[in-house]
Amino acid sequence: MESPVRTAYQRDRDRILHSNSFRRLRGKTQVFIAPAGDHYTTRLSHVLEVSQVARVIARALQLNEDLAESIALAHDLGHAPFGHAGQEALDHVLEGGYRHDEQSVRVVELLERGGQGLNLTRDVVDGIRTHRKPRHDVMGVTAGQPSTLEAAAVKLADAVAYINADVDDAVRAGILHDGDLPRRAAARLGRTRSERINTLVCDIVETSAGRPQLALSPNVLAALNELRDYLFRAVYTNAVVKREADRSRHVVTELFRYFVAHPEALPPEFREDPRQEGPERRVADYIAGMTDQYAIARFSDLFVPKVWPV
Ligand code: MG
Repeated sequence: MESPVRTAYQRDRDRILHSNSFRRLRGKTQVFIAPAGDHYTTRLSHVLEVSQVARVIARALQLNEDLAESIALAHDLGHAPFGHAGQEALDHVLEGGYRHDEQSVRVVELLERGGQGLNLTRDVVDGIRTHRKPRHDVMGVTAGQPSTLEAAAVKLADAVAYINADVDDAVRAGILHDGDLPRRAAARLGRTRSERINTLVCDIVETSAGRPQLALSPNVLAALNELRDYLFRAVYTNAVVKREADRSRHVVTELFRYFVAHPEALPPEFREDPRQEGPERRVADYIAGMTDQYAIARFSDLFVPKVWPV
């Protein structure tokens, strides 16, 4: 609805905020799957952090803060349960592959509001679409070019947020200890989370002011990439994290196979195929929308024998 007091981007933000997919983000995690602790990062806290960082950058650079906020809040709506493990499993089983950025676009264009989508502005949808996270470089040569500077701000804010949150979560989980971080990167970026975020945000603003592109300075970018590579070595490939990731992949793969073989067991909205993409694509939509706990519950319903009630 047109409003005399809300801009189109603010309206987009409100539509995203009130969507079911947004609410489910609190039940999705990234590195630590369905953690028992209440203080671990969830997708919901992650997108709120990304949104805050992106807004600070946007405001300082006199970009459109509302546009940055909307892209940030929507950028992870298509994340599968169990973080990257869930995404990998879907990517493996679905013909044509699965990517969470593409899925986020499906969520806002096709899946929300009973198949109507959220009818967002093109700038927000483009910002979601070009939000692709490359493996080795936070600036990403392999990534699609962001269509707006606000989308570029979100992309950088995402890296700032998740790298720092993953460090915190890894310390919380006892996988890392304060002082384990690579010394050079810690010296350049800061020893605490708030120091590091401040260094990164200030660097982005200083480096990008008056330029046609957003960027980190070469030294700070190198330090951030070093920290990221360190996380890959020390955390994402940690034996316990990997074991849980393997189990998660198993859950997603078995759910996928089951619902492809039993489409009648899908919720009614996923039995319809408005774009004629085939049942596998709809099964992937259903599974991608699940929270960690919901996926575990469905798996347990379908594959784990029940104790006979006395
Ligand atoms: Mg993200």
